Amino acid sequence: MTPDLEDLYREIILDHYRNPRNTGELKSPPAIRTVGFNPLCGDEITLYLDIEGDILKDVKIDIRGCSISQSSASMMSEAIKGKHIAEIQQFIQSFKSMMSVHKAQLAGDETSTQGKLADNDPGEVDDNLDDDGIVEQTLEDSKLGELTALRGVVQFPVRIKCATLAWNTLIQGLEEVG
Ligand code: ZN
Repeated sequence: MTPDLEDLYREIILDHYRNPRNTGELKSPPAIRTVGFNPLCGDEITLYLDIEGDILKDVKIDIRGCSISQSSASMMSEAIKGKHIAEIQQFIQSFKSMMSVHKAQLAGDETSTQGKLADNDPGEVDDNLDDDGIVEQTLEDSKLGELTALRGVVQFPVRIKCATLAWNTLIQGLEEVG
């Protein structure tokens, strides 16, 4: 990952952390209320889903936690609000595979990654945002949008649970719908 891309990712994450989207509560019932907890970091989330037919009409999030858990929840809420449940299930799949695919790449790619970083010409960085393995993920990226900013999190295994907390809580909430 180029330093510029890391900066961009950091900016997106901080923006959602400082200005979280869709915060608050919904009356439950009728909204589905699901609570999630990440004991590794102390992140706590209450997720409210207002589902009408097969559409998620509204979503609200009440979260206390680190910047990763909060920004992931905020980005998730933006991505899923107003969408069909089937579409949301696809988002969940894409997000989870982004997290695990990249983890596998990191595990088998440590030496070559170092080599690439050393070879990087700082003068070309601006034109090179698509370099270093980002290309392969373009298809998934187009679906995930800003959520790709969380990919860097996979480098810190302790943080993965922070990034996936909101998503696991969402899965739990959707299961309650039946
Ligand atoms: Zn956390």
